[in-house]
Amino acid sequence: MTSTSAAARAIVYGYPRQGPDRELKKAIEGYWKGRVSADALHRTAAELRRQAWQQLGDAGVDEVPTGDFSLYDHVLDTSVMVGAIPARHREAVAADALDGYFAMARGTQQVAPLEMTKWFDTNYHYLVPELGPDTVFTADSAKQVAELREALALGHTGRPVLVGPITYLLLAKPAPGVAADFRPITLLDRLLPVYAEVLADLKAAGAEWVQLDEPALVQDRTPAELSATARAYRDLTAPTDRPKLLVASYFDRLGEALPVLAGTPIEGLALDFTGPATANLFDLAAAGGLPGKRLVAGVVDGRNIWINDLATSLSTLGTLLDLADGVDVAASCSLLHVPLDSRAERDLDPQVARWLAFARQKAAEITTLARGLRQGTDAIAAELAANRADLASRAGSALTRDPAVRARAAAVGDADTRRAQPYPQRAAAQRARLGLPLLPTTTIGSFPQTTELRTARADLRAGRLDAAGYEQRIAAEIREVLAFQEKTGLDVLVHGEPERNDMVQYFAEQLSGYLATRYGWVQSYGTRYVRPPVLAGDISRPEPMTVRWTSYAQAQTDRPVKGMLTGPVTMLAWSFVRDDQPLAETARQVALALRDEVNDLEASGSSVIQVDEPALRETLPLRAADRAEYLAWATEVFRLTTSGVRADTQIHTHMCYVEFGDILTALDDMDADVSSLEAARSHLEVARQLARAGYPREVGPGVYDIHSPRVPDTDEVAALLRRALDGIPAERLWVNPDCGLKTRGWTEVRASLEHLVAAAREVRDSLPDTTA
Ligand code: ZN
Repeated sequence: MTSTSAAARAIVYGYPRQGPDRELKKAIEGYWKGRVSADALHRTAAELRRQAWQQLGDAGVDEVPTGDFSLYDHVLDTSVMVGAIPARHREAVAADALDGYFAMARGTQQVAPLEMTKWFDTNYHYLVPELGPDTVFTADSAKQVAELREALALGHTGRPVLVGPITYLLLAKPAPGVAADFRPITLLDRLLPVYAEVLADLKAAGAEWVQLDEPALVQDRTPAELSATARAYRDLTAPTDRPKLLVASYFDRLGEALPVLAGTPIEGLALDFTGPATANLFDLAAAGGLPGKRLVAGVVDGRNIWINDLATSLSTLGTLLDLADGVDVAASCSLLHVPLDSRAERDLDPQVARWLAFARQKAAEITTLARGLRQGTDAIAAELAANRADLASRAGSALTRDPAVRARAAAVGDADTRRAQPYPQRAAAQRARLGLPLLPTTTIGSFPQTTELRTARADLRAGRLDAAGYEQRIAAEIREVLAFQEKTGLDVLVHGEPERNDMVQYFAEQLSGYLATRYGWVQSYGTRYVRPPVLAGDISRPEPMTVRWTSYAQAQTDRPVKGMLTGPVTMLAWSFVRDDQPLAETARQVALALRDEVNDLEASGSSVIQVDEPALRETLPLRAADRAEYLAWATEVFRLTTSGVRADTQIHTHMCYVEFGDILTALDDMDADVSSLEAARSHLEVARQLARAGYPREVGPGVYDIHSPRVPDTDEVAALLRRALDGIPAERLWVNPDCGLKTRGWTEVRASLEHLVAAAREVRDSLPDTTA
């Protein structure tokens, strides 16, 4: 690359908030318990911000983000910034702003929190704004202004980052009591003056640029939403005394919103150039570039943990130079979605650790690229050479290239992804083998994870309990869970999953090709952090993973005990995935390992095996046009996992989410014999959708909402079942809760399952005899 751009800056949109050892979590939870004062909490938060900016500054980042930090969630912070405090929380907020803030986030004895949902297709969850026709917005720029001042005082060039007004409104939902068809975007004209006020305050406090994040624009948007976008950014750029505006998009291509934003007077536009969003490159060229604007190029993957291919990024940046009036370098999105520092992973093989780039390392990659852009590639020759060597080490490693795994995956044919017999034959064989009553009852897998179980696991880790002692406790728990189910009269039993800390990690730890990190924490929501395992290499299964406990459980009872596995799509969705091969390829390797497990379970006597895919719907691509391809491989790897069994082995799956209307066809393509679905909150709707689609196999729309501590009574469950029977014939209807029970307490679970079984019996007994 010969072209350079003297003004290229290194930019970061957001940084992990938690601190190197999750200091923020400890301070916030300490505050909740009354052990940490509000002052001490604010001091910890300010110190963590200082450290984050310092790390970015030291790495050479030219503009550090401000206001991206949060004590809980940045969308909740935005609700506070625009004064959208739900009526039920106003009293608490007026009494004490900090306690009121946490009341909105977590609820109190008296009031429910805001609803929480996933931030686009990441594993971060935000608090959903509640708006209505009566919402009055008022500007509260205090947090944004204070954090900008902090950064400036520390000598940094701070760039405030706000959730943009369009995304804010598109993520909102009607407040309780407001008509369900109310569209928050209709409040745009009321919201814009509040944003204008915040922008003016930030300018007055010293911001040259302000970043407005509009990831909602990478989803399919209606013409009305696109024209609202144009209006918003014409409006916000109208004042003469305002900061320069950078509108940031990420997670996918901007598509039809690209020319819309390019046509407004904003000074800068940030685009994602990683993964499917690379299409932005062609769209940008087709749109004639961004004359007169700065382009911020997200060339470093902000959502994954692998080192960047610097040479490829430089060539992308070189192409972009001709398309805008200045190019800056960034990660594709906020670094919130990756852990802090890969150098903390001292237990990892150094040969593998060199392939990893967490937030700190990504900041360094961004500045290296910006330097290359400013001074030419010679100026970064050493970094390029080291990067080439690291990439070569990864590509040539035995971990990423296991010939046996590759040969097996390459040999997979269509027949491997289909059950040998069509569903009706299987159903008959299963009926004969299992001899279940009509409306069979079952549960989704886990039983309450009691404090005793958690303590036992902690004791095992700390060496206070040996492996044999731990296993005795697991065995005792399994026996107890089985005895309860027999006594209660459930038909298909589960072992309760007491040995599993997490449904992905448990398998990741046993598969080769997966790595675990020690400090790789990523915020899931609030003070909850997860450490996703890393799909680093070719995947194989050295030995059976679940057979031992499943057979142990089956040996305790004459009733069928379901084998219980996490499906390939969910294994990918809740891990960091490889970026050096298509997702479908990684999924196929995982599926083959799981297929062996399914077959081993069958051989050891399991007649019913469940493969959970709760994440199948959540990894649906953001753009409708990309969904068919995703669903094709996602359903294929599910079938690859489950189709090696005999006709009389019953395959179950479980998926949880409220809206699955858009994947009904996928449910059919999975070809599971029985599907249990989350439906307690809209039971009738799910049953109706299935009936309308003519879904031919067995289903258990959940009749007990496990997300609430409420115990449903027998009549209520019976009423749900009767209504489900309007759409689903009795010989295909199962009776089950809508998800696993691990987060619930035994008292509620006991009563709820007793009611569930009683309701199933009552409805079963009232059925006409002819249905069998
Ligand atoms: Zn579930």
